[in-house]
Amino acid sequence: MADAPPAPDDTCLVVAGRKLMCTPEGGFPRVRDLPGGLDYVALGTLDGVAVWAVAGERGDTGEWRSWPALAGDLGEPLASLAGRALQVITWRHAHRYCGACTARLDDVPGEHARRCPDCELYVPMQLSPAVLVAIRRGDELLLVRHSYGPTELWALVAGFLEAGESLEQAVRREVREEVGLELGELTYFGSQPWAMSGPGVVLAGFTAECADPRAEPVIDGRELTQARWFALDALPAELPPAYSISRWLIDATVKH
Ligand SMILES: [Zn+2]
Repeated sequence: MADAPPAPDDTCLVVAGRKLMCTPEGGFPRVRDLPGGLDYVALGTLDGVAVWAVAGERGDTGEWRSWPALAGDLGEPLASLAGRALQVITWRHAHRYCGACTARLDDVPGEHARRCPDCELYVPMQLSPAVLVAIRRGDELLLVRHSYGPTELWALVAGFLEAGESLEQAVRREVREEVGLELGELTYFGSQPWAMSGPGVVLAGFTAECADPRAEPVIDGRELTQARWFALDALPAELPPAYSISRWLIDATVKH
């Protein structure tokens, strides 16, 4: 994290609600473009320029864009920094008071954490791990449609970890619950912070072969509206966006 205070030319990722402020040119504002007295949170540096997150108001002048809309245009590493700004500012807004004694929390210098001045409760920024899995059955891939979010997309089975679970246990449980299938060996693929599903979400991706080569998915109709096997050379067009780990997993499975 940067030690120096914000300089006029530093980049500001201003967050309000689930959106980020852009300039009319499509970039992000500089410190000198914003009013004084703001609470800047250091995010890191990009090409030698410090990047700061700031809480804004949706009434502030500027163009407000959602992270998914921006992420496709920005590319890495700015897309990740923008996701991080969203995450940090949302967390700070939701963790202003002590959950144990209700006193106003203080920032812990140099950390994304707060501490209670009265009862000393330490409140680190919490992350929410989630898993997703590309399930193969020979030359086929299982894709599902969700009843929430972009319902037209064909996506992968995914879900949040429950307390006390390993990533692998979560994958097997989610797959059993959502599509009634058992998996063979799991292979870890990679991970991605995913600001779209809420603050602090980190997705861990896996690949797996369906244990039974004849098994068909069975859905309960609540979380999923459809689930079916697609031949790897005939996947539907409505797939997750190119900047998502869902898509990286699907593309890697096709190339396998
Ligand atoms: Zn307290």
